[in-house]
Amino acid sequence: MGRGDAMVDLLSLTRDELQDLVQSWGAPRYRADQIWHWLYRGLAQSPDEMTNLPAALRARLLAETTIGGLEPTHRVDAEDGETSKVLLRLADGATIEAVLMHYGTADVAEGGSERHTVCASSQVGCAIGCAFCATGRQGWTRDLTVGEISGQVLHFERELRRERAHVTNVVFMGMGEPMLNRDAVGRAIRNLNDPKGLGLGARRFTVSTAGIVPGILAMAEEMPSVGLAVSLHAPDDVLRDELVPINRRYPLLALLEACRRHVESTGRRVTMEYTMIMGVNDSDGHARRMADLLRGLLCHVNLIPLNPIEGCGFQPSSVERVRRFRDILRRAGIPVTVRLRRGTDLRAGCGQLRSARGAERNETPYSVPQAEVTALASATLEQEQHAHGVTPDGAHRAVDSVR
Ligand code: SF4
Repeated sequence: MGRGDAMVDLLSLTRDELQDLVQSWGAPRYRADQIWHWLYRGLAQSPDEMTNLPAALRARLLAETTIGGLEPTHRVDAEDGETSKVLLRLADGATIEAVLMHYGTADVAEGGSERHTVCASSQVGCAIGCAFCATGRQGWTRDLTVGEISGQVLHFERELRRERAHVTNVVFMGMGEPMLNRDAVGRAIRNLNDPKGLGLGARRFTVSTAGIVPGILAMAEEMPSVGLAVSLHAPDDVLRDELVPINRRYPLLALLEACRRHVESTGRRVTMEYTMIMGVNDSDGHARRMADLLRGLLCHVNLIPLNPIEGCGFQPSSVERVRRFRDILRRAGIPVTVRLRRGTDLRAGCGQLRSARGAERNETPYSVPQAEVTALASATLEQEQHAHGVTPDGAHRAVDSVR
């Protein structure tokens, strides 16, 4: 097979499919487990790194496969050091964004609650067209493949390993509507969840939707352990039709009913995301309608002041307004948290870096030094195994599975 022929993306295969592939090449099945280990533990970016494979198998992998196919081309770090965003070029030249957010502390004396959360994209662009979103303005180009989705998480795992840390959580809140690419998102989650690979527990994933009702219902069946977040943004249909146009297809009544069924089926609370826009959805009346809407639903509301985008007249609500809104919900017994706007100085709102880079030239070349990653792979193996569910003797402890 020449490089121009269709290459198999190893990250897009399940472990069973990888076993089938190597067996079809005449290699024993255990070779697939070795490759899987290199992909998700060794974080290999090339078959050349898979040193325990026979040379002939490595050569065939080199000739006929790729690994995710993501190339980081630009990176920005927020001044507070807590958020980083990368622009990733895909094999066809399209670009997507992925964000890494750091929370809490690694100090065990302080509870050791450090989290490193990847905000992953699921599509190139987005068809939903939310009124305040840079990605929505770009329109939809295509769905991401399984490997392009997993590759974002592995990219940051590679970066974090250099600091002897790990990705702890993944939220699908980047570019795209994950429920419209549910099959690939689900497969990526399963691959990343596999205890023989990265072993990221199912409860560490959250899928966020603008309100695709059939997707919410299917997710309760297919991935009951995975968290659900809903981008609510308005407490009534008239306003939500404007801010989140998919509401015209799945209005609030149907959306909230789907959320109730999701809670009944999974026993998990739903996160309600509410972007606060000055003078648009942030009045006391909006807060009271939110309280009425959500009363009795097992949920938690996140209030997020808007990340303003260029060319859009919307502005974030004032701190005082956010507090009043929060207090009204609290008094009504609705659990609520005000979330920080992450990385306003790095255009961390979804789609903003891609928009900005599209208008610029001379991108700063960017790459992760793989030699450092590989060197650290063995040094951190025990730590890694502990973090991802493997005891030092190689036995797997329980990693909560997707279902
Ligand atoms: S907010 Fe999410 S669903 Fe809405 S347009 Fe942007 S990417 Fe799409």
